[in-house]
Amino acid sequence: MLLDKDNVELSVIIPIYNEELNIDYLFERLVSVLNCLNIKYEIVCVNDGSKDNTLKYLIEHHHRNSAIKIVNLSRNFGKEIALTAGIDYSIGAAVVPIDADLQDPPELIEELIAKWREGYDVVCATRRSRRGESWIKRFTANTFYRMIAQLSHIPIPRNTGDFRLLDRRVVNALKQMPERNRFMKGLFAWVGFKQTLVLYDRPQRYKGITKWNYWRLWNFAIDGITSFSFIPLKIWSYLGLAISLLSFLYASFLVIRTFLLGIDIPGYASLMVAVLFLGGVQLLSLGMIGEYLGRVYEEVKGRPLYFVQECYGFMPESVTQKSIAYHP
Ligand code: UDP
Ligand code: MG
Repeated sequence: MLLDKDNVELSVIIPIYNEELNIDYLFERLVSVLNCLNIKYEIVCVNDGSKDNTLKYLIEHHHRNSAIKIVNLSRNFGKEIALTAGIDYSIGAAVVPIDADLQDPPELIEELIAKWREGYDVVCATRRSRRGESWIKRFTANTFYRMIAQLSHIPIPRNTGDFRLLDRRVVNALKQMPERNRFMKGLFAWVGFKQTLVLYDRPQRYKGITKWNYWRLWNFAIDGITSFSFIPLKIWSYLGLAISLLSFLYASFLVIRTFLLGIDIPGYASLMVAVLFLGGVQLLSLGMIGEYLGRVYEEVKGRPLYFVQECYGFMPESVTQKSIAYHP
């Protein structure tokens, strides 16, 4: 059954990195949900440089069900880029990114589609609860969402991952955003359109472990904030101004006191405090500027976002790069 390019209604996009334990169960649940929906669908699996048997299993599933298509990236590019690749290759009138570990329940797709049919362009699946996540993960996630809400003028929905439905109009808008630092939640919000949400309880990962340790999450948070807010850069001008004013007052006080009382030696402590504090503030602000400068550098290099090694199940005209090995 070869899918006709023009009337695929739903594209489900799955970024996959080392998920060999989840794949069989994932397709079992996903395909049974999609079959019940009675629409023409495709499942675009983006293999993000998995080091286990993920690709082998994916190819087996592709041979069994030609609606399962594979984009095999040339190495691990990270989830945000894998998702971008999936969006680029998808052709459906609606697109739903979903995690491979079954934390995004496929059964919810029916609700997302119902809302889409009501006329919404973006239907977010928002977490009512985060079961099986440690309090520290919940706390840091909450702090992050609160902070980015304060810092950025684009309202980024809280407790909402990449699991959502996007209309083709939104996908076309997203495809025009060439930036390398792809904080997808932010980009999804930035494009606008008519948005709504459905609530769900987020279950635990089915098998395997998360690929996001705290260091990776921290960097992800910095990416998010620097891509969607200039406030961290502006803080330093105000802080600098405040410190300069205070220093000026203190300097005037010292000059007057010297005139009135003469010179005395003590003052080592206050001197050290001032020098160390100012040194710290300067390094911090330089680091902050560095964060943005590094991102500017990334953008300016203008490299392609990803390379595809081979793909399975796509028609030749939808393959954008010429060097890709193409399997029907
Ligand atoms: N993932 C990916 N590339 C990566 C890391 C993760 O494509 O470098 C995929 C992973 O296979 C899964 C999804 O992104 O389908 C979410 O990853 P994970 O469950 O580890 O993240 P968490 O749910 O803990 O945020
Ligand atoms: Mg997960």
